[in-house]
Amino acid sequence: MSRGIAILGSTGSIGRNALRVIDALGPGYEVVGLSAHRSIDLLAEQVRRYRPARVAVSNDDYAERFRSLMDGWDARILVGSESLVEMAKSDGVDTVLTAVVGAAGLPSVLAAARCGKRLAIANKEPLVVAGELLTRIARENGSLLLPVDSEHSAVFQAMQSGKSSEIRKILLTGSGGPFRGASPQDLEQVTREQALSHPVWRMGPKITIDSATMMNKALEVIEARWLFDVPVDKIEVLIHPESIVHSLVEFVDGSVVAQLGEPDMCLPIQYALTYPKRVAGISKPLRLEEIGTLHFERPEPGTFRALTLAYEVSRMGGTAPAVFNAANEAAVEAFLAGRIRFVQIMELVERCLDAHEVSRATSLEELLEADAWARAQVRSRLGREMHDAPRHVR
Ligand code: MG
Repeated sequence: MSRGIAILGSTGSIGRNALRVIDALGPGYEVVGLSAHRSIDLLAEQVRRYRPARVAVSNDDYAERFRSLMDGWDARILVGSESLVEMAKSDGVDTVLTAVVGAAGLPSVLAAARCGKRLAIANKEPLVVAGELLTRIARENGSLLLPVDSEHSAVFQAMQSGKSSEIRKILLTGSGGPFRGASPQDLEQVTREQALSHPVWRMGPKITIDSATMMNKALEVIEARWLFDVPVDKIEVLIHPESIVHSLVEFVDGSVVAQLGEPDMCLPIQYALTYPKRVAGISKPLRLEEIGTLHFERPEPGTFRALTLAYEVSRMGGTAPAVFNAANEAAVEAFLAGRIRFVQIMELVERCLDAHEVSRATSLEELLEADAWARAQVRSRLGREMHDAPRHVR
């Protein structure tokens, strides 16, 4: 029987890699849905090649453009905010690979979980913003949540060696980003170009900046807390510049189980699609004798505030992670647009958290409300500051 896969966000780096993985997997894995936000030309190319039963785009203009590129093509085009939900719920879709950045993808992830689908989660928001809600819905409906994030895939794989109750701690590794070893003073001078050049991983601009601020690791701590149902105090971050050990689990007997591999997203994507099976794929084999030495060090929480905040935010729970995530997204946007300096990203996030009154509520509506509040907060702060300060010049 063939596994029908819908890729939400098929034109981004995860989506494109997922299609390469599916190509190599061959029969048994079928692309039945594709969605894109802006890259309509690439979406049309993908649709011509994979012929999915359903395609989703975010608005009528994009749908119009898509139709003009796909003359004579008759599959269903779903349009607008509900289109991803409809695709995620569709019969014929049994795996939803979600790689939609931002809160926009949340309703579709929850819908897929409600329908008991397999969810391969590549973006952070579902577990960061709605971790409590999503894991509960998944449990109640028999939906399998599979991480595509390389660290969580590693933890998930290591977890096959024991039970959740037997975990002493989870060690999430991170490359440390381009500013590993930097002092707070060094960070003051960072330019957009420096922040965008990650030493190991090739990724989209948002996640690359998140790696530079260590926000990426911070969000991963929160993700792991929900995905593996462990208290946040059992999760530690370990800097590992070679990015070969993708994460480790220490069990109560003292055994530490790790997953290693070349830094390549194709492997975690593939495992999420084929689990519990392992099959040959396109990932390059690991040659430890060529790498020789692996390094590990503690992160510097004084320099990278994001990590400290992640633990605070996790303990607060409720709407705090949603605010943490959304404020960061808005601040990174401003940084990428050249409106603020690198260090102002975390300053904005922290001020936004300080101003937020955490609510224990975790319905989707309440979480989205907190998300929108945080974005508006950042924008209004930016507006005020832009009046006072000259536009940032690199
Ligand atoms: Mg990761």
